[in-house]
Amino acid sequence: MRKGDLYIFTGPSGAGKGTVLRELLAQDPGLFLSVSATTRAPREGERDGVHYYFISRPEFERKIAENAFLEYAQYVDNYYGTLEAPVDERLAAGVDVILEIEVQGAMQVHEKRPDAVLVFLAPPSVEELAVRLRGRGTETEEKVRKRLETARGELAYQDRFDHTVVNDTVENAVARLREIIAARRAGHL
Ligand code: 5GP
Repeated sequence: MRKGDLYIFTGPSGAGKGTVLRELLAQDPGLFLSVSATTRAPREGERDGVHYYFISRPEFERKIAENAFLEYAQYVDNYYGTLEAPVDERLAAGVDVILEIEVQGAMQVHEKRPDAVLVFLAPPSVEELAVRLRGRGTETEEKVRKRLETARGELAYQDRFDHTVVNDTVENAVARLREIIAARRAGHL
């Protein structure tokens, strides 16, 4: 049986990763979205074990010491990381796994797992990103600014990715992603 493929899905905060991934997973139930651990506080409606594993800073640091993470990074004011064991279990069972992570983490996975497919989801423009981030209303203005600053840095990494998908509309972005996945699966035939 073939092993699953690992897809890294990165893009600046506000690029629409969440919406695009939700639609992609609805269309392709063969994909598994990895649940990350984070020290950030849950947003309204977010559930522990579903959106993230919400853990304390000492607990996160303990897991770093135990080498439990495939990758982890500090993003704005918090830690975010991918637990390695659940990902490897899925891959071994032949399931394709998606990690939705920021650029530093993407580069770490690229080093450790050269076969991982790196996909960058880009907003149509930085102006559009600002509009989307403020419109979402989940962050204070100060946090929006920090996220925009981080986003400018992240956009500079685009050429290190295998594919850039512009999120002009969710339908287009999902269709492009499905092409990328289909091409990869066809390569295994
Ligand atoms: P948010 O706070 O908006 O949920 O996530 C902030 C950023 O952290 C996003 O760019 C998201 O992709 C990234 N992120 C989420 N989980 C992980 C993870 O496990 N590792 C890394 N490196 N980044 C993550």
